[in-house]
Amino acid sequence: MTTPHPVPPHQVVALDLRGRTALVTGAGSGIGRSVAGRLAAAGARVVAVDRDAEPLESLADDTGAVPVVADLSDLDRAEEALEGHWDVDVLVNNAGIQHVAPLDEFPAERFAYIQTVMVEAPFRLVRRVLPHMYSAGWGRIVNISSVHGLRASPFKAAYVTAKHALEGLSKTVALEGAPHGVTANCVNPAYVRTPLVEGQIRAQAATHGIPESEVVEKIMLTSAAIKRLIEPEEVAELVAYLCTDAAGFITGTSVAIDGGWTAH
Ligand code: NAP
Repeated sequence: MTTPHPVPPHQVVALDLRGRTALVTGAGSGIGRSVAGRLAAAGARVVAVDRDAEPLESLADDTGAVPVVADLSDLDRAEEALEGHWDVDVLVNNAGIQHVAPLDEFPAERFAYIQTVMVEAPFRLVRRVLPHMYSAGWGRIVNISSVHGLRASPFKAAYVTAKHALEGLSKTVALEGAPHGVTANCVNPAYVRTPLVEGQIRAQAATHGIPESEVVEKIMLTSAAIKRLIEPEEVAELVAYLCTDAAGFITGTSVAIDGGWTAH
């Protein structure tokens, strides 16, 4: 039985980012798009990174975000594309992809690609934005991890590995950043209603040999106590809270927004 969807509360966090710059990866779609919009609504100048120009243009039209087209799997070129944009006060490492396959069939190059986009790219960006944050004495790094940064699921070896690695990076940044007023945290959602999940529904149906209609209820919602998908705006609101001064003591941790999944 799924839980009925309430209208998610929008923008309840009092966040003032006027005068600050926020860089959001994967900002063209899903969670990243909501986060970019939320931080722009808080007054931030948003640098929106994605690999396709078109979704960034519509985001720029909607929010005033500065679009930067960069493929984060090409680490050096992505850094080049971001040259001139490193004076960042809030970094949201969000871009991510999924590949669903049993381990003994998992393509090795796909495994490596996922580590590049979801672990190495966040490391590269953190490394480049910390000097500005350190000199400002303030910074917020929010890593969009997953419930799969805390728990494993079958057939998602690359994704689970990458998200667990991101958790380690995030904790290390928290320790090094603390004396400089920089916090680093992970946000850990269960299934959010985004294009990435819509793709997974198709892939899981094929892998498990069941109709797509059964994937959400019988696979995606089995572990969560609250039986509904999360809306991207709910994740964006949690990110907004972590960017407040009120959240300045929250660092090096992982904040689950998972409907009780990790209570098991
Ligand atoms: P999404 O709708 O697919 O959005 C991700 C965005 O990142 C897309 O615009 C994607 O571009 C972009 N991207 C992917 N690879 C990139 C690359 N190499 N360089 C630059 N941009 C790239 O996904 P989402 O569901 O919002 O997921 C966002 C983050 O939340 C991911 O890290 C994901 O692991 C995490 N998360 C999602 C869920 C969920 O249920 N949706 C749950 C837990 C955690 P393309 O469209 O071209 O691929």
